[in-house]
Amino acid sequence: MKTDEDRCREYGVPYDPTITRPAVYQQSGWKCHLCGKRVRKSLKYPHPRSASLDHIVPLSWRKDSPGHVWGNVALAHLRCNQSKGARFAGSTKPAPRKPGIVTPLWKLRLTLFAGTAALFYFNAEPTVLTIAAVLCILSVVPQRKVRRRRRRAWWKL
Ligand SMILES: [Zn+2]
Repeated sequence: MKTDEDRCREYGVPYDPTITRPAVYQQSGWKCHLCGKRVRKSLKYPHPRSASLDHIVPLSWRKDSPGHVWGNVALAHLRCNQSKGARFAGSTKPAPRKPGIVTPLWKLRLTLFAGTAALFYFNAEPTVLTIAAVLCILSVVPQRKVRRRRRRAWWKL
């Protein structure tokens, strides 16, 4: 892996050797400058939320970048840093987040549960109740698989 010094030489931008990762992270208050959320010290590379050093104006912008100097270095989650790529920090959207628990599918299921509860309340026929209960159970079974798949895809990021 290339060091920051190598990259600075490659792009012809200034390199300040007094910059150290712990100092930058400390100065950033352990907060990601891209999404604004806290970065946990205990998470290590290559965890998507581990700490990484980000150049606010990318070094790859060559003469348009101030380089690896104080004021152009900040702490970012590894994932936020990678999703930013070589674009300017100000033009990026926040990194993709884990999808929320209340998905449209879940809303549909909740309606189904409420409907079943209502059927029980109004003493519906046993056959109707059984069908409703089975539908409720069936609606939850594939959900687990979907969630697991989503989580795995999220980890790949
Ligand atoms: Zn972040």
